[in-house]
Amino acid sequence: MIRRQSLIAWLTLVAISAMPLSALAQTQIKYHSNKYSVQDDVKLGRQAAQEADSQFPLLRDNEIQGYVEDVGRRLVSSIPSQFQHREFQYSFKVVNARDINAFALPGGPMYVNRGMIEAARTEGEMAGVMAHEISHVALRHGTAQATKGQKYGLLAGIAGIAGTILGGQGAGQLAQAPFAVYVLKFSREYETEADILGSQIMAQAGYDPRDLGNMFRTLEQQSGGGGGGFLSSHPSPSDRYARIDREAQLLRVNSSSADTRDFRRVQEKLRGYQRAPTMAEIARSGQRNPVGENTSNYPDNPPSGRVAYPSNRYQSYSIFNGGVQVNVPNNWRQINDGSSVWFVPEGGYGQANGQPVYTHGASFGVAQTNNRNLQRATEDLINSLGQGNNNLRSGGSQRTTLSGRTALFSTLSNVNEATGRPETVRLVTTQLRDGQLFYMITVTPQNERNFESAFQTILRSVRIND
Ligand SMILES: [Zn+2]
Repeated sequence: MIRRQSLIAWLTLVAISAMPLSALAQTQIKYHSNKYSVQDDVKLGRQAAQEADSQFPLLRDNEIQGYVEDVGRRLVSSIPSQFQHREFQYSFKVVNARDINAFALPGGPMYVNRGMIEAARTEGEMAGVMAHEISHVALRHGTAQATKGQKYGLLAGIAGIAGTILGGQGAGQLAQAPFAVYVLKFSREYETEADILGSQIMAQAGYDPRDLGNMFRTLEQQSGGGGGGFLSSHPSPSDRYARIDREAQLLRVNSSSADTRDFRRVQEKLRGYQRAPTMAEIARSGQRNPVGENTSNYPDNPPSGRVAYPSNRYQSYSIFNGGVQVNVPNNWRQINDGSSVWFVPEGGYGQANGQPVYTHGASFGVAQTNNRNLQRATEDLINSLGQGNNNLRSGGSQRTTLSGRTALFSTLSNVNEATGRPETVRLVTTQLRDGQLFYMITVTPQNERNFESAFQTILRSVRIND
């Protein structure tokens, strides 16, 4: 009898422990091979976050910020244990931008656009986007993708290892596009994984996983059904919805402590604010500091034209998150402008009509191009620089070297839009291993020769590690 009882007890125990069968049946996800360490994720994400912080106007509203952080923390604590990393520090910032988007950087920094919070129909939809982004981070998709054949190269890749809910600019568009450096497109496989893990995190956190799928439908509706690059380059929203729905049937949703009133209040507050600019408008405005709602327009401050002679002492800078080393006169300062980096002397830069203006200095950037031919890729770049600027004239080019590789040295002339003075623009281009075009641009007023030797020294100092 005793034996039988204990057998029954044992059977009951088995039955009980086997009960959450549904939980066991959820889709198992594995890490992809990754040659980077977890610490690398943290480091890369932190560097990219510094850039993001200086480029994106953050919404300064403690209530909204606190609310988004609460939702984020609830989701993070629901990450399955095998995908939790002690080293990761998840943070959530609200960007005052109209585009319906969000992105996350390796190691945890996440940026949620105000437009996304306003577009979501429920807290669950907003949480869905965040859970999806958290999943890219937890699964270390950024560095996993970089491991795979260095598709994005160190330069644009490492700086740009971010997942976005909408996906990025199509390949072939130039990096002049706003924040292209931050926008990295993951493969469909990675997107599906982030949807599945995101669903699991949602259920654990007490949200209906189908809200993540619903958000894709909301996105589709709000983008007028067209969706452009997103719909053409990503799994279709209906495919994603169907896959999430299937996963949701395998999941048990924890009881929720979420209060829909919080979400409504936040949305109402946001709608009361002045219309947010788009990411493109933010990039054009050249703002470099986080701003609050009421300080979105800086007063114009055109360059003074009184510029000190370049110092003979040089300071070494590491830009594009270590992808490029360069020496620059130590009386110049670094300015991150969109996806390019400027080094400028005091008085040689400013702002006019809401646009950044540079009269003296050197800048560096990376342009995405389909053109494997250096000459043609350079012509593409010059054409894009000339867009909306009828004064830019190409004066021919010659071969040179940059960081030990073949490069093109092109001379152009221009009329500075802010000062109306003719200026000389020099462009040095070379190809990165992944085919993208790395460039250095220098600008000075015409006939000012004081900067020539400084530019030569800068050019010779450039070291590219891609
Ligand atoms: Zn994604």
